[in-house]
Amino acid sequence: MTLRTLESLGSLEGKRVIVRCDLNVPLKDGVITDDGRVRASLPTLNTLIEAGARVVVCSHLGRPDGAPDPQYSLEPVAKRLSELLDQPVAFASDTVGESASDAVAALEDGEVVVIENLRFNAGETAKDDAARKAFAGELATLGDALVSDGFGVVHRKQASVYELAEILPSAAGLLIATELDVLDRLTESPERPYTVVLGGSKVSDKLGVISHLLPRVDRILVGGGMLFTFLAAQGHAVASSLLEKDQLDTVRGYLADAEERGVEIVLPTDVVVAESFSADAAHEIVAADAIEESPFGTSGIGLDIGAETAAVFAQAICDSKTVFWNGPMGVFEFPAFAAGTKAVAQALTEVDGLGVVGGGDSAAAVRQLGFADDQFGHISTGGGASLEFLEGKKLPGLEVLGWA
Ligand code: ADP
Ligand code: MG
Repeated sequence: MTLRTLESLGSLEGKRVIVRCDLNVPLKDGVITDDGRVRASLPTLNTLIEAGARVVVCSHLGRPDGAPDPQYSLEPVAKRLSELLDQPVAFASDTVGESASDAVAALEDGEVVVIENLRFNAGETAKDDAARKAFAGELATLGDALVSDGFGVVHRKQASVYELAEILPSAAGLLIATELDVLDRLTESPERPYTVVLGGSKVSDKLGVISHLLPRVDRILVGGGMLFTFLAAQGHAVASSLLEKDQLDTVRGYLADAEERGVEIVLPTDVVVAESFSADAAHEIVAADAIEESPFGTSGIGLDIGAETAAVFAQAICDSKTVFWNGPMGVFEFPAFAAGTKAVAQALTEVDGLGVVGGGDSAAAVRQLGFADDQFGHISTGGGASLEFLEGKKLPGLEVLGWA
C-alpha cells in the first residue's frame, strides 16, 4: 500500500484542514536561525491555500514540558510563515482552547492560522494511549481533515501524528511524499558506488543504520564524535574525546561484519585535537593512532577530522553515484573545527548522482557554512525519521497514512 495523497481528500474548498507540520526550527533569542523547515512546508500550504481550504497549521517546537513555556512559542514561526507565504497568518495563543477555536472559526477560504505549540499540552507526547487519544479528539474539533506533513516526526507515535490521523480523514502532504521518494531511491537499487557518511555526536543513535546499510552500501565514512568509539574499538587511545564505552563490542562486530562483506569502513587517519571544548581552544592536527601524543596529552579532545582525512573523504564522496550523509564531521558550531564538515559538504555538492543530507544539525551546518539548499540532491528535514526509515523500521506516522 502506498501513502494516501492530498487528492484522496476530495475537494477542500471551504473545508478546515489541519496541517501537521514540523516547524521545529532553531531559535536564538526569539530569532529563527535556520528557516529551512518553514520553507519546506510551503508547497503543501500553498496547494491548500490555492484549493480554497481554511488552513490550520500545527507543530511542535523544542521540548517544553507539556505546559506553556513562552521560550517555545510558535509566534515567531507564524510571523516568518506569513512573510514566506506573502499573506497574513493568524496566530492562536493556545492549541485547543478558546483562542484556537475562535481563530479557526474566523478563517475565510484560503486563509491560514498557526495554533500554539502542540507540546504545550501533555497529551501530545503522553505515553498513555488514552491520554494521546483524548488530546487528538480535542484537536480534531478544529478541522474536517488532516494533512500530515511533518516528516521529522513520522517516527513518533504522538497524538497529532498518529491518533489524529485515525480520527479525521487524513493524507500525506507534499513534503512527506518528496522525502519518501528520495529515501526510496536510497534503499531500492541505488546507483553504485554508494557511500554513506556518518558523523554527529552519538554513536548509539546511528548504529542501527550501520547494521541495516552494511549489506547495501560500498563504503561507510566515519567522522564526528562517533569516530572515537571506532578508533577505540581498534585499540587506539582517544584521550578525552567523546567515547561510548558500552558500544565498543557492537562497533567491533560491525567492523568484522563489514570486512566479511567487502564493505569499506573508512576511519580518519588524522584528527584535530583541542586543549578544551571551546571555540578558541588551542588545537593541533595529529595522527589518529597518536591522539594522546598531542601537546594536550590525555586531556586533549578530538573536535574535527584532520585535513588529510577530509581530502580522502571528499575524494570518496566525489567518486560515488549515491551518497547519504548524516552527522557533522566535527564541532562545526566553532569555526575552528568546521573544516571537515565543510569539505564533506563541498564534495557532496560535486557528486555526479544523488547526494542527500539528512539530520537537523547537518542541514543547519551546510546552511551555516554558506551552502545553498539547491546545491544538494536533497536536504532531508528529518534526521531521526530518515535514519529509522533507512534502518527498515516501520514508522507509525506513515503507517497510519496507508504506507506499508
Ligand atoms: P544530526 O542532527 O545531523 O543528526 P547529530 O545530532 O547526531 O547530527 O550531531 C550533531 C552534533 O555533533 C553537533 O552539534 C556537533 O557539534 C557534534 N559533534 C560533531 N563532532 C563532534 C566531536 N568530535 N565531539 C563532540 N561533538 C561533536
Ligand atoms: Mg541533531
